[in-house]
Amino acid sequence: MTSNSKKSVIVIGGGIAGITAGALLANEGLKVTLIEAHSQLGGCAGTFRRGSFVFDVGATQVAGLEKGGIHERIFRHLKWPAPFANILDPACVVDLGDGTKPIYLWHDSEKWEKERNEQFPGSETFWTLCNQLHKSNWLFAANDPILPTQNLWDFNQFRKAIQPINLASAFFSRSSVADLLWICSCSKNVRLRKFLDLQLKLYSQENCDQTAALYGATVLHMAQSPLGLWHLEGSMQKLSDHLLDCFIRDGGNLLTRHKVISLALINNEKSWKLDVINQYSDVIQFEASDVIFTLPPQSLLDLMSYESGLPNNYRNRLEKLPKVNGAIVFYGAIDRRYMPTDNLRHIQLNEDKLGSLFISISQDGDGRAPVGQATCIASIFTDVDFWSSCNDFEYKKNKDLILKRILDALQMSLGIDSQNWLHKELATPKSFAKWTGRPLGIVGGLGQKPTTFGPFGLPSRTPMKGLWLCGDSIYPGEGTAGVSQSALMACKQLLANHGRKFDLIK
Ligand SMILES: Cc1cc2nc3c(=O)[nH]c(=O)nc-3n(C[C@H](O)[C@H](O)[C@H](O)COP(=O)(O)OP(=O)(O)OC[C@H]3O[C@@H](n4cnc5c(N)ncnc54)[C@H](O)[C@@H]3O)c2cc1C
Repeated sequence: MTSNSKKSVIVIGGGIAGITAGALLANEGLKVTLIEAHSQLGGCAGTFRRGSFVFDVGATQVAGLEKGGIHERIFRHLKWPAPFANILDPACVVDLGDGTKPIYLWHDSEKWEKERNEQFPGSETFWTLCNQLHKSNWLFAANDPILPTQNLWDFNQFRKAIQPINLASAFFSRSSVADLLWICSCSKNVRLRKFLDLQLKLYSQENCDQTAALYGATVLHMAQSPLGLWHLEGSMQKLSDHLLDCFIRDGGNLLTRHKVISLALINNEKSWKLDVINQYSDVIQFEASDVIFTLPPQSLLDLMSYESGLPNNYRNRLEKLPKVNGAIVFYGAIDRRYMPTDNLRHIQLNEDKLGSLFISISQDGDGRAPVGQATCIASIFTDVDFWSSCNDFEYKKNKDLILKRILDALQMSLGIDSQNWLHKELATPKSFAKWTGRPLGIVGGLGQKPTTFGPFGLPSRTPMKGLWLCGDSIYPGEGTAGVSQSALMACKQLLANHGRKFDLIK
């Protein structure tokens, strides 16, 4: 079977980046085929079922659902309701693991200001500076800039997004969060640094020293009003479901259980040919004028051979991308009588051996577990090379060891006795590689160092005509909100390339 339309677009990957791009382009009247290897959509923001429990694979909190947030804007543009969600308040409770009082990330800005003044006395200058940068960044991001810019059109979009307030922020474009601490005379505040290292790890995969100041300042204010972090009713799958509804409504063609195994430029570099293997192991060929590629860009190295049109210098660039983390995720289910009664939903724990342990607990009756029971998901970062180099024996041994450490940590922090779990299982980078097709199970993008974030990152526009990247390795980075923004950016570029102006409705 061959899709011969020269004007058709193929979106590779049905995670949030792919479905968002697919839904936006189908809504613009393009002929779009979305190709997803798995039997369901969602990728790292999908779910899986075990008996009566529904587990969120990776993402558990959603940013950008408030008015003006990227998910809200996209659903408003598509004229479709966003999935139902509750604001998280507190968004998270951070336990530094040193016996001191945990830090509550309140939604209300004044309550959060009071909390941080009590928790980190003398740090207000730092928070005020972060808040200024955050406000400036947010105004910029809300204008849907193109970053990094590759041609005049990109540059004009970038220039149009800049507000006078952004000019002052440019001064910090090469700084780290540690530099901001230094400027504000907070470098020696050990407790504040410990807190920031933990929180930044979640969003940028880096600590204070390594996180770009402009990125760090933005994510450190993400939980507070007028923004916020949200908990989806039902499960994380609802986000994909609602986007898929729009895609199908607008005539999009969805192929699940179809895995792209190669792509190449053909016809004097005028169109793309894809080889795709379906659930019956048949190889099918597709042709399209444009391809939106949402997999980690490192996957291009496997999918595009030397004769496929991938320029050598671009291949070199992809080969030299920074090393990316993987995740280990524990999925457990428990009777609520064994849980603490304070009804917390997200806890970040600094654990001696595991580092940052991020725990998400379902709400009673939120669709993830029967009433009176709960799902509990706990994740840490890990080195993907370590897991890929293990033989079967070592793999099992290390998996058992980490599972025990996580269970011990959950017993210590939540008081859950390991024999009381109704269900428990552990996913390693190998599981993520299998579930999401991400090379070696890398997750979460390229990190947000001063040298790799925003203007210094990998552009969505590739040197190959008609190949557009989006997803968590592309500006503005990881998270469902981030990948949606990157999908919007790729769609704007693709449509501009076909002579069409595209903006979300205001
Ligand atoms: C443990 C963990 C916790 C997280 N927590 C949060 C959180 O709380 N909040 C938040 O916003 N973000 C969180 N994230 C990050 C967020 O989940 C991701 O950044 C985002 O979902 C990535 O979306 P994507 O579309 O770019 O990629 P993916 O979700 O990886 O989607 C790519 C899709 O492509 C498909 N695919 C792969 N190879 C092929 C192929 N050859 N052919 C066809 N299809 C293919 C995959 O099956 C997959 O569906 C978390 C991530 C992890 C791992």
